[in-house]
Amino acid sequence: MAIYNPKSLKAEEFINHEEILETIKYAEENKHNVALIDEILEKARPKKVGAGLSCGGLSHREASVLLACDIPEKNEEIKNIAEEIKLAFYGNRIVMFAPLYLSNYCVNGCVYCPYHIKNKHIARKKLTQEEIKQEVIALQDMGHKRLAIEAGEDPVNNPLEYILESIKTIYSIKHKNGAIRRVNVNIAATTVENYRRLAEAGIGTYILFQETYHKESYLKLHPTGPKHDYDYHTEAMDRAMEGGIDDVGLGVLFGLELYQYEFAGLLMHAEHLEAVHGVGPHTISVPRIKRADDIDPNVFDNSIPDEMFEKIIACIRLAVPYTGMIISTRESEEVRGRALRLGISQISGASRTSVGGYTEEERPHDSEQFDVSDQRTLDEVVRWLMEMGHIPSFCTACYREGRTGDRFMTLCKNGQILNCCHPNALMTLHEYLEDYASDETKKIGYELIAKELEKIPNEKVKTLAKEYIEKMDKGERDFRF
Ligand code: SF4
Repeated sequence: MAIYNPKSLKAEEFINHEEILETIKYAEENKHNVALIDEILEKARPKKVGAGLSCGGLSHREASVLLACDIPEKNEEIKNIAEEIKLAFYGNRIVMFAPLYLSNYCVNGCVYCPYHIKNKHIARKKLTQEEIKQEVIALQDMGHKRLAIEAGEDPVNNPLEYILESIKTIYSIKHKNGAIRRVNVNIAATTVENYRRLAEAGIGTYILFQETYHKESYLKLHPTGPKHDYDYHTEAMDRAMEGGIDDVGLGVLFGLELYQYEFAGLLMHAEHLEAVHGVGPHTISVPRIKRADDIDPNVFDNSIPDEMFEKIIACIRLAVPYTGMIISTRESEEVRGRALRLGISQISGASRTSVGGYTEEERPHDSEQFDVSDQRTLDEVVRWLMEMGHIPSFCTACYREGRTGDRFMTLCKNGQILNCCHPNALMTLHEYLEDYASDETKKIGYELIAKELEKIPNEKVKTLAKEYIEKMDKGERDFRF
């Protein structure tokens, strides 16, 4: 029997089945233990340390106790602390991005995804470099600056060379004032050498969803193809970091297995990365399984109601306070709105989840990976965020200034967000408003920016940010701290 060891490089030791079962049992036994719950909440609460702020974070066992807790007042406290942490370390910024589907050719047999190899009726598409250019122009014309590229696993149709060439194409396109300044990559688990090549291509975050941490279920859900290898998939982030990728993004597909199991596994994965590489995941995504082509989400009997989904988000926020959290357009406007308060720091907007979807007038369904719940335009999402008091941010500065991995975490931990990320968010929002927003959105945005600029504590930074914004009014672009 494998022994739990977060520092091990073997999947069965750092995502240890027995430890997860023990954790769930411990959480169940302590879900009414008020003294312990209070102690855990106290540990999670942000505290002033010198000029900055500090947050203890929680172990997978501690966070699992909070997840199991069903005392209404304590659950309210969990949500309040999640909001406190979000505001302390991320402020009211929400980073915007869009997915770009390059190809839906795939050799795997994942039973929850319509791109699985046995699906013979879905339209199979792979964008040419010219088609990528057109998609990127359409995304730039909306105002996007950050993309997450997606492709199925297919060594013949989507080899790494194709991905690398596509990244180069995306970065090269400068349409009007548009530019894609950060390309995150969501492709299948690969070798250290291939990760090295991706790092050299200047990618932002490497994202790979575990789908499920439950090995037995994983093997059934991935019956055929290279993705069937649970260990190779689970150990991918270690290879990515060995290959020089500083920022990695974790995620599970909620609904495939028991959420308590996935929650503990996800946090153990984060603890493992911290223990081995000295830095945890840059982001955690929280997708829930959705309807798509030949996929009926009702056949998976572990679906979670909105209330529990939101609690999971809050508990992740308490456990890993310095990790960004992403929610996509799989979720509705209502769920996304509530989740933002609980610690989400990044959302997609105006997403098309089909290959070549951005150049079509109507949202096409023929090659979609999942059905989009939030179908608003980027302008509508931006306005909606501002009306709720958030600052939509198109900032990509950290990655471009080399503040990745632990260097980003240090900035976060030192409480320098207000002097760095906050002005960057305001400047990129201003840039968005100037170039792409509707009049109504502009009006709300300019007022918000004027108010938010005053919150910058460092006078020098504040003056400079104002100067940069004036220069933008005269046509200059791309300022950053
Ligand atoms: S989840 Fe990914 S690997 Fe699996 S079938 Fe879909 S595209 Fe292919």
